[in-house]
Amino acid sequence: MARHQRLRLAVLTYAVVVLTPLFVVLIGPVDRDRGFWIEFGVALGFIGLAMLGLQSVLTARFGGFSASLGQDALLQFHRQAGIVAFVLVLAHPVVLLAANSSYWAYLDLRDNFLRAAFLIIVLVALPVIIITSLWRDRLRIPYEWWRLGHGALAVLIVLIGLVHITRVRHYLESGWKQALWIGIGAAAIGCVLYVRVVTPLRQRRDPYVVTSVEPLADRTWSITLEPEEGQPTSFAAGQFHFVTFDRTPFSIEQHPFSVASTAAEPNQIEFAVKELGDFTSTIGEVPVGSRAFVQGPHGSLQLPDDGARGVVLVAGGIGITPVLSILRTLRDRRDERPVVLVYANRTIGEAAYRDELRRLADGLDLTVVEVIDDPPPDWNGERGPINRSMLERVLPPDPARWHHVICGPSPMMELVERTIEELGVPLDRIESERFDIGAAGAIGRRATSIRRTVLGLGVLMVAAAALFAI
Ligand SMILES: Cc1cc2nc3c(=O)[nH]c(=O)nc-3n(C[C@H](O)[C@H](O)[C@H](O)COP(=O)(O)OP(=O)(O)OC[C@H]3O[C@@H](n4cnc5c(N)ncnc54)[C@H](O)[C@@H]3O)c2cc1C
Repeated sequence: MARHQRLRLAVLTYAVVVLTPLFVVLIGPVDRDRGFWIEFGVALGFIGLAMLGLQSVLTARFGGFSASLGQDALLQFHRQAGIVAFVLVLAHPVVLLAANSSYWAYLDLRDNFLRAAFLIIVLVALPVIIITSLWRDRLRIPYEWWRLGHGALAVLIVLIGLVHITRVRHYLESGWKQALWIGIGAAAIGCVLYVRVVTPLRQRRDPYVVTSVEPLADRTWSITLEPEEGQPTSFAAGQFHFVTFDRTPFSIEQHPFSVASTAAEPNQIEFAVKELGDFTSTIGEVPVGSRAFVQGPHGSLQLPDDGARGVVLVAGGIGITPVLSILRTLRDRRDERPVVLVYANRTIGEAAYRDELRRLADGLDLTVVEVIDDPPPDWNGERGPINRSMLERVLPPDPARWHHVICGPSPMMELVERTIEELGVPLDRIESERFDIGAAGAIGRRATSIRRTVLGLGVLMVAAAALFAI
């Protein structure tokens, strides 16, 4: 099944999973004499809660999900769906209060202290979760602490929501309906526990050891890991792992790094890491012989065997890592497809693996186009940054028949994605991965279509709430 078909199926499944428990509560005798607006407000609350619960399924790092739908797409969907869920959950009290002011009692600490206190916590926690997620960088919140707080607040909101609907009991009078909703909440919280507890426990059984740490280029290091004992984790070329360089897999320092080595030899995994922040700037100090843990593989940056004429790889800076894994794997599998690699860097000193790329060109039908923004005087390659006319010149004349893999900084990816789309390459022949998790999938035609899809889902949810209320 092509990627766009898988995405459509996933969106349809999502809508069914959110709406089914809403309409299921209508089964059996229920009191529905409270008027349209009250029922509408109640339905918005149910839908918002179900969407909040599903948020943790989207980020539970199930390898199959990210390999099939793409990590960028999953994160972007999670982000947009979170905003819709936030609006629906907040609309729940607003609509109820507008329809009947006696609902203020729910927020009155004198009326029922615990109930009011917990509902007020939700009303405060929801904007906090949205604001800190959308503007984490600007608020200078370290990623790891943000992730911990995000997960804790999300679990708290879902828990309070569950207690709220089961205590109010309207629509959930019978035990089986309560069990259904508690099951949804348990699945949501279970996904968080799966990532935070089950996965590290499993990783603890299969530790890796750091076997080499070598400088590769300016502020860029190669790190190789091997399983301490037991079987290595197999992966497809182009995928990434969440890696922990620590004695325990429960460490909050867990970073995504693409595998640079060949998929034909999973026993030895090489990562190439660029010093870009707090953790990565200490990567060269990781001691050889120390422990590490990998969790994965993830990501859909793979080459499908879809009959494409050849492969175009566009890498910017450290985006070369998954691309190199693809090239090394193609060589090891004696793949005869023609490959064009466009490899862009700011300076020659920052360009990792230049010698190896030359050697790879001997074993593969590979054309390497090197692009340097700030080249030395004797440079006779392309001068960056990459632009549309350069791409038109260096890409094959029939790009729509080639498969494209793009990985690099966001502005470069935006330009390349837009250009090759305009040159007629169908979305199913473009694989891309952003290393900047904040910008994951935020740009490009695929991102726009995800935004539109989630907006459409939001409209569908409001329409379903209205239908429920009639
Ligand atoms: C799918 C994917 C594959 C990647 N592959 C590579 C690679 O092969 N080589 C490489 O050098 N870099 C890679 N990165 C980027 C790398 O993960 C970040 O540069 C690194 O995590 C930054 O951590 P820091 O503490 O040094 O920087 P910080 O200054 O703390 O963070 C800089 C930014 O990096 C992101 N980030 C930080 N920590 C994490 C984390 N634990 N998980 C996710 N994002 C985080 C955040 O957006 C943050 O704002 C990849 C990123 C992704 C999403």
